[in-house]
Amino acid sequence: MAILNVAKLGNPILRKRAKRVTLDEALLPSFQHFLDDMVDTMQELDGVGLAAPQVFSSKQIVVIGSEANGRYPNAPNISLLVMLNPTITFYSEETEEGWEGCLSLDNLRGKVTRSVKIHINGFTRFMEPISMDAEGFLAVVFQHEIDHLKGTLFVDRMKDFSTLCQLEEYNLYWAKREVGAEAS
Ligand code: ZN
Repeated sequence: MAILNVAKLGNPILRKRAKRVTLDEALLPSFQHFLDDMVDTMQELDGVGLAAPQVFSSKQIVVIGSEANGRYPNAPNISLLVMLNPTITFYSEETEEGWEGCLSLDNLRGKVTRSVKIHINGFTRFMEPISMDAEGFLAVVFQHEIDHLKGTLFVDRMKDFSTLCQLEEYNLYWAKREVGAEAS
């Protein structure tokens, strides 16, 4: 198990478009090991999702999984998902505003509007095709993580910066008042 370093806001890798993972690459033991390290890193840092560019690999990989933790006391349980080359093929017109944070933007929270339901196509860690619907919290986490693969951060999606908070103030003034979706 290895905990990977996380790229922080301002690091150019967070603004690059990530490259697709190839089948040959996916089957390499070193690549599979890297996926395990991504999962370990997400869990160790109490994230609910992590995209490869956040750990200095500009590849189309996301890992998602959550249970209530210190950073996200209200997070629902989502069983662990590793997805390669994910694309969102449907966005519901219905949207919802929710609080988001990011391991690459320390201690910040802000409100972002996202589609409530989405459909995702992608590949498993062994490059088998998968296709799934997601809604609510899971849909928000997918949209946040897949944005990372395009070089987009949640602050780019904010329409109103007056909701941008430091974590301590968020917990003090906002966390208890509104139960919203949060991502990592
Ligand atoms: Zn993030």
